[in-house]
Parts: sequence; C-alpha cells; structure tokens
Amino acid sequence: MSMVRAALFAAICWCSYSISIFAQNDSLFLAEHLAMGNPNHASANLNTPQNYLLVKRQYVHSYNRLLGIPNWVAWHTDSSWLGALQRSNDFRADSTLPEHWYHVNEKSYRKSGYDRGHMCPSGDRTAGAEDNSATFYMTNMIPQAGNNNQGPWAALEIYCRDLVKAGKEIYIYCGGAGVQGFIDSGRVQVPMLTWKAVLVLDAGTNDLYRVTTSTRTIAVVMPNDNEKIHKSDDWRTFRVSVDSVESLTGYDLFNKLPVKIQTAIEQRVDSE
Ligand code: MN
Ligand code: MN
Repeated sequence: MSMVRAALFAAICWCSYSISIFAQNDSLFLAEHLAMGNPNHASANLNTPQNYLLVKRQYVHSYNRLLGIPNWVAWHTDSSWLGALQRSNDFRADSTLPEHWYHVNEKSYRKSGYDRGHMCPSGDRTAGAEDNSATFYMTNMIPQAGNNNQGPWAALEIYCRDLVKAGKEIYIYCGGAGVQGFIDSGRVQVPMLTWKAVLVLDAGTNDLYRVTTSTRTIAVVMPNDNEKIHKSDDWRTFRVSVDSVESLTGYDLFNKLPVKIQTAIEQRVDSE
C-alpha cells in the first residue's frame, strides 16, 4: 500500500470505529432508559422533526421541533445515579440538535412568567458533574408554572428519589399536554398540563423481566397554571392511572411489557 492509501485506509477505519462506538453507546443508553419501551416510536429521522429521538447517557427524549419542547423524556434512576453534587445551573441550548434547527436557549423563557422546568430532574443526576450538567439542556425543559414546578411536581420528584434511596429503582416518562399559549416569539409551546408515569421495582437486574401484574406504577396529571395548582398541594391528589395518561397523550407507555401486564399495571391508580 502507498503511504497515501495507507493513511486513507487508517482514516476510514478510525471513522467507522468512532461511528460504531457512538452507535454502541447509543444502544446502551436506549437499553437503559427505554427498557420499558419507546412510547411513540420516536426516531432520529430528520423527516419526523415533531418526534425526533435524542439519545443521551443521562436520559432519552422525543423532541418536538415544531413546539420547541420535548414530547416526552424517559430515564431510569437507580442508586448509581445519585450522589452529592449540587445543581450545575448551566441552562443552555442542546448542541446535539440538528444544526439548522432553532435552538431554544437559556434566555428563551426570560420574562415569560414560566420556570425552565426540568423533565429529567437535576436531582436525579448527582453522581457525576457531566451527568448533572446534561439535565440543563433546554431540550429537557418545558415552560412550567412555578406552583406546579416548585410545588407538587417537585414533591413527587423528591418522593421518587426517596424510593431509590430506600432500595428501589425506577423508570419514568414525563412531558406536557395540551396548549396554553406560546413564548419565545411563538417558538416554544406552553402545555396546559404536565404528566408523569413512574414504574417502581426493587433494585436488581433484568428489569424488564421482573415486572409483574402487581408492580407499582404512579401516574399524575397536574395543571400547568398557577391559578389551578398551589405550591402546597399534595402531589398525591393528582394521581391518575397510566391508562389516563395514555389517553391524554396518545402514547403507549411501557409498551415493551406483555399486554397482560400493561393492562394490570396501567389501570390501577396508586394509593400507597
Ligand atoms: Mn423542576
Ligand atoms: Mn402501555
């Protein structure tokens, strides 16, 4: 082989090597955070910008370019994700979005009256600095009413982390639903409601195969409007079935589970 051809060959090898490393990582992250299923077959396809799959080590989400917010964010939390880090607070545009798309940024919600509301909470990613920082991408945010975000929504986040600290591991999907208005000159939609669905397991391995008809699920739907929700409201009063969230959103949550198991765990309303 000539020098030039050898160099070219090496470059091609390196290239396909890096691509396969990325793909391998992506499939690991998908296997973790979407172990219970991809709710609406989101994919990283530029032809479906309203349901565009973004894969991160810390969480996986379906981004909606037309709405400027995620449709849903999904993540797994076990004790390995929890540490002692403080919030990095580095709200910023998500550099992994396709380059020519509008990038919602740290200033997009300014003076809107809405919080930059995390879907995957900062508090669920406190073991590594990079992991905490990744929760501050604006593609992990929706405009959230303060009474919702800082009230019962935050209380449920804390409740879920307490479950993990007490020996559980959890799978979560959440997002917004309905339209209340737009901010950022019409580029970001403000949802009418926020929803969340949580599946709770004892810490262990082979999670998908350990879900039974009696596995606990917790689902909530909360108004995203300061007039209709108060900071002191108990998150428990917003509980609904996973089925209700599925009707609200049109998504099929936990769709990797056998239908018989989904039927059982999705029709119950948590009462613990
Ligand atoms: Mn929050
Ligand atoms: Mn389902």
